Amino acid sequence: MAFANTKQLLQKAQRGKYAIGHFNINNLEILQGIVAAAEKLKAPVILSTSEGAIQYAGMDYLVCLAQTAAKKAKIPIALHLDHGRDLRVIKKAINLGYSSVMFDGSHLPFEENVKLTKKVVQWAHRKGVSVEAELGTIGGAEDLVSARKILYTDPQQAAEFVKKTGCDFLAVAIGTSHGAYKFSDTAYLRIDLLKEIKKKVKVPLVLHGASGVSLSLIKEAEKYGAQLSGVSGVPDAQIREAIKLGICKINTDTDLRLAFDAGVRKALAEHPKDFDPRQILAPAREAIQKIAEERIKLFGSEGKG
Ligand SMILES: [Zn+2]
Repeated sequence: MAFANTKQLLQKAQRGKYAIGHFNINNLEILQGIVAAAEKLKAPVILSTSEGAIQYAGMDYLVCLAQTAAKKAKIPIALHLDHGRDLRVIKKAINLGYSSVMFDGSHLPFEENVKLTKKVVQWAHRKGVSVEAELGTIGGAEDLVSARKILYTDPQQAAEFVKKTGCDFLAVAIGTSHGAYKFSDTAYLRIDLLKEIKKKVKVPLVLHGASGVSLSLIKEAEKYGAQLSGVSGVPDAQIREAIKLGICKINTDTDLRLAFDAGVRKALAEHPKDFDPRQILAPAREAIQKIAEERIKLFGSEGKG
């Protein structure tokens, strides 16, 4: 199998105090932009498919794209299932050779989350696939996953959860939020809480809902007609702080969407006579590469591949 082992990548990141970029893929151009960025910066990278991406493009197609990238690239590339909730989808991902799967039981009562996570861990470990689980609730909405508000991860409960389930890494809710409309005010990550979790939980920790939603990205999209008032993200300084305190994997999707959107809008606006999909999508692919490079540099994984 050409894919890298997610658990090993994250353990190495944990020792080296940096984070690995987890980037969501939905089509060829997004994947190529991300892989080009990772190759240029010699960074290990985790390509991820949500259940929504699988509904859109088909799991088999996405696996083939990622496999082709992993075979050709000189950097470690892992393939991950993001926010798996449907056990059939999770099983299929394990059988198709994903490096890791997430079971998201964050919406379930604690005991139920433990029970199902444990089951997924048993299936996955048999095939050498590692498992991400989630405790607490990351707020916001993205793809098929939504939650009205953030329920912070309880450190003691997190320790118990990891021990009982045997999960390999844990997504924590410390104040980040999914989607582009993250915060009504400024972002506030509970760094104090992350410190407490880190003291009690030894597996690598994962941050979701942490896109930067930078002003330059928004301005670029808005220049060509996007309407994005009220969007907000997590400032870079808070991401750096979180990495210092043990976050080893950072999920990025919203920033990719914004970049892709801006790229497509720009191409259409500047070349209204073009109707070749390649001319429309190539600038979006470049925009994806640019934002992925920025994120990889921020995460400190440059040169770690
Ligand atoms: Zn997420």
